[in-house]
Amino acid sequence: MDTYSLFLNRVNELYYLRTAANILSWDQETMMPAKGAAARAKQLATISALHHEHLTSPRFGDLLAELQTKSLNADTQVIVREMARDYHRAVKIPTRLVEEMTETTALAYEVWNRARQQSDFATFAPWLDKIFSLKKEEARCLGFEKSLYDAHLDDHEPGLTTTMVELLFARLRQQLVPLVERAEARVDKKEDGWLCASYPLVLQEQFGRQIVETMGIDWQAGRLDVSPHPFCGGAGPSDVRITTRYKENDFLVSLFGMIHEAGHALYEQGLEGEYFGTPLCDTVSLGIHESQSRLWENQVARSADFWEFWFPRLQQTFPEQTRNLKLERFYHTINRVRRSLIRVDADELTYNLHIILRFELERAIFEDQIFARDLGTAWNEKMKQYLNTVPSQAAEGVLQDVHWASGLVGYFPTYVLGNLYAAQFYRQANIEISDLKENIRKGVLSPLRAWLREKIHRHGRRYSASGLVERVTGEPPTADHFIDYLKGKFGS
Ligand code: ZN
Repeated sequence: MDTYSLFLNRVNELYYLRTAANILSWDQETMMPAKGAAARAKQLATISALHHEHLTSPRFGDLLAELQTKSLNADTQVIVREMARDYHRAVKIPTRLVEEMTETTALAYEVWNRARQQSDFATFAPWLDKIFSLKKEEARCLGFEKSLYDAHLDDHEPGLTTTMVELLFARLRQQLVPLVERAEARVDKKEDGWLCASYPLVLQEQFGRQIVETMGIDWQAGRLDVSPHPFCGGAGPSDVRITTRYKENDFLVSLFGMIHEAGHALYEQGLEGEYFGTPLCDTVSLGIHESQSRLWENQVARSADFWEFWFPRLQQTFPEQTRNLKLERFYHTINRVRRSLIRVDADELTYNLHIILRFELERAIFEDQIFARDLGTAWNEKMKQYLNTVPSQAAEGVLQDVHWASGLVGYFPTYVLGNLYAAQFYRQANIEISDLKENIRKGVLSPLRAWLREKIHRHGRRYSASGLVERVTGEPPTADHFIDYLKGKFGS
């Protein structure tokens, strides 16, 4: 076999291992009986160890080095370039550190879970110290140009730096704070009795499925199931798994959850299947992934145009519950601005302030301005500053997200990047698809899905995240269009 075929076999193996692990994780969240947890942890740990071993093997390094001296076609160049990136990152981290991190976060997850139930930050604080000190060590191994924190940003959004995030967020914060104040002052505090009526779960599912099918989800290559924390996973474009959760007295939770995850799923289903097992059939970054879910959830499904078509269908599905409900009232409710304590329940405006808060705290730890154990106090100070509200208990504050317990640092900023990219992409879609909004008003969503597939999904990891944004929209990532969008929607 020639060098490239040997290399490609190994690349395929790496992707098959990873996607097999994805299915095991999906099963753990949706189907697995409770007693299966210990065996599943061993299976997943074995696969991730195998993956790390294969990726960092000297033989794989030699094949890469040899190919980098050869002249390659465009597709092959991308595969070699992206695998070299993965390889060089992985070999910098000693196996001991990988193991220590896996073990620490597995235990920390349990501690966090209990601490959150009892709203007891003190028992979790030493674990946060441990996790952040391991993350600092990892960052020193990976290397960085200016800030230690850069190493972790780059992990989730290749090429992203602390300076870039600071610039984007500073502008966003300056614009958002007054906008939130104005929008919230005008909010009609009237209670929505209809919302807390009983919405049978089977009907919620039926209605949600109608919408995501119209978005273009292919059930021959996907599934919808239930899990406590909704997510999108699976094994490549022909097997995409999404989940949602249902609340009988608040159907908006499952509805927008389903639309959000379907946005992620369309991205996965839009990858080129013929490249399965290579970076050309893999997603670019978390920011780009999140842009696809946010675009459908917010720009499309929280717009008045969208509900012109779907509101009568909602009323047909739930005639009793929505008998006296008017479209205008419904639109108002799904876009209500309210300073809340919990990020996942936040509206489109305040959501970003929740993320800016987490970014500033993570950066402060990485720059040794605070210790991780100080996060409880620092959290409340920032909440007061940005959202003018302070949680009365840690469960609604610093303990609310699982990310830190799982060792996910540098991850939160990609949520805001997703919002920025979504606004930038959607603006461009409206320029290029002249009757886009008219179609949405008629319930026709396929032109938008086709545009996203053509411009974004099918390229896999061919371009960098910022390169892709620039290629699609003609300008580098910017906060301008997101700010314009928010001002247009909430400023009027
Ligand atoms: Zn998402």
